[in-house]
Amino acid sequence: MTPSILWFRRDLRLGDHPALLAAAGDGPVLPVFVLDDALLRPSGAARTAFLLRSLRALDADLRRHGPGLVVRRGRPEDVVPALVRETGAAAVHVSADFAPYGAARDERVAAALAEADVPLVRTGSPYAVAPGRLHTKGGDPYKVFTPFYRAWADHGWRAPAASDPAGVEWATAPGDDLPAEPDVDAELPEAGEAAARARWDAFRGTPYDDIRDRPDLDETSRLSTYLRWGAIHPRTLLADLDARHTHAQVYRRELAWREFYAHVLHAWPASARDYFRPELKDLPYVTGREQRRRLDAWAAGQTGFPVVDAGMRQLLAEGWMHNRVRMIVASFLVKDLQVEWTHGAAHFMAHLVDGDLASNQHNWQWVAGCGTDAAPYFRVFNPITQGVKFDPDGDYIRRWVPELAGLSAPAVHRPWKDGPPDGYPAPMVDHATQREEALAAYQLLRRNH
Ligand code: FAD
Repeated sequence: MTPSILWFRRDLRLGDHPALLAAAGDGPVLPVFVLDDALLRPSGAARTAFLLRSLRALDADLRRHGPGLVVRRGRPEDVVPALVRETGAAAVHVSADFAPYGAARDERVAAALAEADVPLVRTGSPYAVAPGRLHTKGGDPYKVFTPFYRAWADHGWRAPAASDPAGVEWATAPGDDLPAEPDVDAELPEAGEAAARARWDAFRGTPYDDIRDRPDLDETSRLSTYLRWGAIHPRTLLADLDARHTHAQVYRRELAWREFYAHVLHAWPASARDYFRPELKDLPYVTGREQRRRLDAWAAGQTGFPVVDAGMRQLLAEGWMHNRVRMIVASFLVKDLQVEWTHGAAHFMAHLVDGDLASNQHNWQWVAGCGTDAAPYFRVFNPITQGVKFDPDGDYIRRWVPELAGLSAPAVHRPWKDGPPDGYPAPMVDHATQREEALAAYQLLRRNH
């Protein structure tokens, strides 16, 4: 029988997989992943390593039922039609991609396939509600989270897809080897669908709404990396939440932020690079060597502000950082160090294993005051009191900044008061002064606009 191709991208799993169901309905399924240099190049070592491990895990899962994953390297618009010609496949099935590069790539692949009269069939997406589906009463895309959240919850989502790899007839074709993993210093979570499920199972029952802002307790779900690669689908989580989770409301709202930013990026693709509120483009930022000096100190976790340094070191060590600390370090870079948000966002994308264009760029814009629902620019996080409030005993700081391991709270939050311990830098700026400067610049900008 003629096979159909299931082309995996951000859906590296077999359970709750609508595109797999659709492909299996056509006959034998040829499971394929295309290593696309255009995506690998900017990914950063940690995310690339995690992707390769996820592909190995997917291959192992497929081998339980058939010959395994077929990997090809090259441009998808060349590789996918070539595979169709080789195998005589009747259709190519995918989960729809809504990000700017993925959507344009899929258009090119669909056009190339159309020449051979083969359809690119899009079924499902990495989201519970596909970007572009929800509009305001006026027919516009949502720009504000709360009304989006209401519309999203009212719209609802399908039940998880009953895709069962055991019931599928799997096909195969010659493939390329997976490349060697890049060297990564960060300690990454275990990859794959089973690991994602295990993580979700372990998370259930945690008092999420009380502790999600506490990096010292470290009890958020840590599912972002798995959601990034589609090792688990948000619909699976949403279905489980209602049934089994005592903190369903708060967690559902967090998942909705991920959906919201994907929706915003889909409606305004340029917001991946450009200011969502362009009037804030004119704020003064440092440039040249001074910018480099500040960025380097921030990136290395050597600013002299303990919670900032702890966060930046966690990012290097784990390829992940707690959400509250992401907000603190981002605010510190933009408002205290006066470095434009785009540089911080690029550093995050280079190191985060969960690095996702929609969530990353829009959260950065939110902190910088130039995004949707922007935290007002005049709201400047105080990096010391934020540490005191959300890491009250200093456990998070001591975990990541060993120079401060001998200090207890409250001294660990202000180590310079009695002279900083050996090897730990003095604060690189004065927060009160920087705050005044940032606010003055903002006032000036408002007067001029
Ligand atoms: P949990 O608290 O367990 O939340 C569950 C899920 O909800 C997360 O896995 C995530 O999918 C979603 N979520 C929660 N908060 C947000 C949010 N603010 N925006 C979007 N989705 C959210 N998240 C990414 O997935 N990729 C990124 O590249 C990314 N960059 C960020 C950059 C900055 C400056 C900030 C402030 C936040 C960023 N986030 C990003 C959002 C958030 O920090 C992470 O999703 C969260 O820390 C992941 O940990 P968790 O899975 O334990 O989260």
